[in-house]
Amino acid sequence: MAFTAEENKKIIEGYWNGQARCPRDESSMELKQIRNLVNYTLVGACPRCRETVNAGTNADPLRDDFRDWTEEEQSEMADDYFKHGGSTCPVCNISVKVEPVKTPFWTQLLYFCPRCCKQGRHTEKPKA
Ligand SMILES: [Zn+2]
Ligand SMILES: [Zn+2]
Repeated sequence: MAFTAEENKKIIEGYWNGQARCPRDESSMELKQIRNLVNYTLVGACPRCRETVNAGTNADPLRDDFRDWTEEEQSEMADDYFKHGGSTCPVCNISVKVEPVKTPFWTQLLYFCPRCCKQGRHTEKPKA
């Protein structure tokens, strides 16, 4: 029998916290992330009971909390990036992808969170 919505939520939560597990037999599941710009889907199967997973953004337990980042949050993400080399999504609490774009005068950071699929940018301008 296919995983229920509740079981899918557990699988998704596990995946983003480091390891997806089958909610029925606790087996580790290696899931593949298929994504486009606005959502993601996790696909795979439990190696033990062979139940298949095909769930993503629509089944994500955090989905109702997904929102755009505020200016202030994006500026804090820049602090983290420049201090520690990485940033965390303030909504999902996972690592975001950061791509620095450098010009001779300023640095712009492009952010992308693979879970809530939000994108943002922060421009670090030198003090005049
Ligand atoms: Zn299983
Ligand atoms: Zn996020």
